[in-house]
This record gives sequence, C-alpha cells and structure tokens, in this order.
Amino acid sequence: MEPSRYVTTRTFGDARVSLISDGSGRSTIVRDLLVPEAVWRRDVPEADDLGEITVGYHCALIEIGRARVLVDLGFDDPGPLSMWKPPRHQRSPGLLAGLHALGFGPGDISHVVVTHGHGDHFAGASEIRDGVRQPRFPNARHTIGRADWDSLPSRHDPHSLLSVHLGAVARAGLLDPIDGDRTIVPGVDALATPGESPGHLCVRVVSGGARFYFVGDLFHHPCEVRNLSWVSRGRDAESMERSRRRMLTDAGPDATWAFTHRPFPAWGQIVPAGEGYRWIDRP
Ligand SMILES: [Zn+2]
Repeated sequence: MEPSRYVTTRTFGDARVSLISDGSGRSTIVRDLLVPEAVWRRDVPEADDLGEITVGYHCALIEIGRARVLVDLGFDDPGPLSMWKPPRHQRSPGLLAGLHALGFGPGDISHVVVTHGHGDHFAGASEIRDGVRQPRFPNARHTIGRADWDSLPSRHDPHSLLSVHLGAVARAGLLDPIDGDRTIVPGVDALATPGESPGHLCVRVVSGGARFYFVGDLFHHPCEVRNLSWVSRGRDAESMERSRRRMLTDAGPDATWAFTHRPFPAWGQIVPAGEGYRWIDRP
C-alpha cells in the first residue's frame, strides 16, 4: 500500500504533524450512544441497518525541535491476545511502517503520550524481543493520565492488555503517570480531559500561531461535536461534556483537529454552528 493512503503530514508553525492510520473497522460506537436511535440516526446517515459505522484508528507523530512525540500506539502484534479482530478490522501496513515511511525507527521516538487506557490506543506499546516482552519504543518517556494507570480495574488483572503492554513500559521505568496537564516539550501539551476514561488526555500543538489538537476519544463521530452531551454507555457524561467545552474554547475556530476514530485522513475543523458546533472534514 502506498504510504499516502495511510500517512498524511501537515505543518503547524515549526511543528510537522503526521497522522498514521493503523487500519479501519466496523464499530457500534454510535449504536451505543445513550440517545434514542431515531434521534442519533438523523446525524449519522451512514450507519447501516445494524447501526454500525466504519471507523479509523489513528496515531499521530509530532516532530518539533529535536523531539519526536508519538501520540497513541495502535494495535498490538497479531496473536491470541491481540485486539485486532479480522475481518471486522482491516489493517493498514501499520504504525511502524508509517514511521518508517517518514524516515524513523522505533528508537527515534523521544516521547509517547497515551491518550487513555483503552486497548485500541496503547496495545502497540510492547512487543516480544529476544523472548521477552519489552517496550516497542525503548527511548521514549511514556505519559499517561494517572487515573488511567492507577485506577482502571483492568490494572489488577495481570493478563489484561493494560497490565501486559503498559506493564512492560512501567517495568522498564519509562512510564510517567501524570495528574492534570503537562507540557511534554515546548509547543506540545497533554491536557487532562476526563470523560471517555478518568485519565483521558488530549494533545495540543501550538507553534508559530498555528494550533493542532489530537483529541483521542473526546469525540468518536461528528454527531458528538454537534451534540456535546452525547456519550456512549460506560462514559462519564458530565465530565465528557465539560472536557469537550474546555477544548473547544481553548482551540477557537481556526485550529485543526483530528480524533482517533475519524476515517483516514482524519483532519478536520470545528466551527460554530447555530447554538453549537459543527465538524468539517479537511482532507
Ligand atoms: Zn478508541
């Protein structure tokens, strides 16, 4: 597959940001919204009879100064544990192939930010090397919201994806759980945005007057931009809406956005519309 079909790069001031698609899949995410079906269907015309839509799985690489900040880690290697479930998921050549196309190997990544503790965002954190499970990005400090490391119930199951993959990072001394916001490097901030999970982080890039937001699962579909109170089962609705409003106020109308599950290439803009907001794809 040509890199241009799963890797896309833009410049924001002195920062170069690439979105790398790890693949796509069919998802029940809108069917799981705590909203009557007849209501959500008005804003999701592409949903099929089962209420499923196609979603993307994106990671982001931010190059700024000497830093190379990777946001989210995609899926793990195929195997019995893997989150990757063909044929529901179609994999791209993958995160490492995307990094390679940009000229980087795993050792070149200086920082990792895990937006939250759901497997589709961090399972690529580790791999088996020399028979031992080890961090895939051995030179990177890995930042995660503390509540998604200390408090998720899966932490207490040694066989959970969280324990296996981020456990390998923690054992190597590379995991930095944080409280609140944190500057990763000048121009790149991780912002505490709970709701999808208690420790969810969005990543903001500000350089030369340009702003870019990689917001993980703050939104899963543009219908949630239009309706800021819409959340799926299992999320903290109040925190989610507060986090969405915080990011929208912070960003203003000229920022560029991407959220993990928007199909490739995922670039977009959020503009005021009536009382609220509207997502516009900017491919
Ligand atoms: Zn997700």
